[in-house]
Amino acid sequence: MKMGLVTYVPEKVEGYDMHVYYSKWADGQAFPAAKEMQNDVTCFCDAKAIREDPSLVAVSKDGQALRKNRKLNVPFDFVCPTNPEYRAKVLDYVKGLNRENIEGVTLNLYHFPEEEFCVCPRCVELWRRSGLNWTEWRAQAITDFLAEAKSLVKGTFAVEIFPDPVVAKERFGIDFERIAELVDYFHVPLSAKDYFTNYWVDLLTRDFLKILKKPVVVELSAEMPTDEKLDALLKTVAYLSRHKLLGVLLLVHDPENAKQVCRYAVHKGGFREWLKKYEFTEMTQIVDDWAKFY
Ligand SMILES: [Zn+2]
Repeated sequence: MKMGLVTYVPEKVEGYDMHVYYSKWADGQAFPAAKEMQNDVTCFCDAKAIREDPSLVAVSKDGQALRKNRKLNVPFDFVCPTNPEYRAKVLDYVKGLNRENIEGVTLNLYHFPEEEFCVCPRCVELWRRSGLNWTEWRAQAITDFLAEAKSLVKGTFAVEIFPDPVVAKERFGIDFERIAELVDYFHVPLSAKDYFTNYWVDLLTRDFLKILKKPVVVELSAEMPTDEKLDALLKTVAYLSRHKLLGVLLLVHDPENAKQVCRYAVHKGGFREWLKKYEFTEMTQIVDDWAKFY
């Protein structure tokens, strides 16, 4: 199992062998490519673009896909995924990243906000002309977008997966079977403020490993200032190491945050003894490697 980072700083850290850099954010900020890293691109969540042109927003009978619309529970502000100008803008950005020496591209938030979206006149017209039912048309629209993006990517191509293993197709237009044909691996973020309660991480990991027909990496949040939280995080990673994952990614603020995790694992909390006692061989290997640097 590889250990990797998801980070806001385009800088590799020793001891980690996958590096995912957030190059385009849900608030609309977009940054230059991070060299030799996997560049993570937020597609249809763009608060800035919607502020500048409110007609971009995805719509339903309950109104617009905006965080301030309390009838809904959407985590970001969503652009309608069939808007041709906006799609072209995202694809152009992906094209630009691929002019640089990058590892590859991961797409994030490339789907509809929820099942009842989008009923703008363009989407309704496209759906009617397709002859497909609502669920199939929406999945087709998303898969087509991903296929087009993939054709622009010369390295590793991956997608993030909103962690719903059961109704992702109906809700978001995410068709696991079709997407598996396009990607090198799936990236499943299981974010939390802490992992003191962690059964759900194990549960969702098992479910996704069973369903997804390509390798899977799981992302956990590691922006943790306390020893107690780091201890719970690392034990959760240890349990994940017993599954057949391609890797575990840690979301960190910056390189120092990533090193803090390694230093804790190597030196504190009796973590290495705990790993040996309960025979976490894979995780023991990872921490032994960290001990060479930290
Ligand atoms: Zn629409």
